[in-house]
Amino acid sequence: MREKKYICPVCGFDGLKEPPYGESNIPSYEICPCCGFEFGFDVADGREAFAVFRKRWLANGAPWFLAKVKPEKWVVEKQLGNLNREKA
Ligand SMILES: [Zn+2]
Repeated sequence: MREKKYICPVCGFDGLKEPPYGESNIPSYEICPCCGFEFGFDVADGREAFAVFRKRWLANGAPWFLAKVKPEKWVVEKQLGNLNREKA
């Protein structure tokens, strides 16, 4: 059975194990292996916090939080495209 994956609202990584914010908006406390954002950790979670974190992350060269799971031929721009797909 194929596991359902979820998209990180910060970096667009599409391999999260749980929805970042589940029923009743309860955060998963999962840490995105790509950008390192921990859902529910920051009290200011929300669109603005995501944008701020993303900007800082990109300014740092978009480092992977868990470098060992970084796919080969990973392209940050392509992954960020997932964010637009999510909104549509
Ligand atoms: Zn992320």
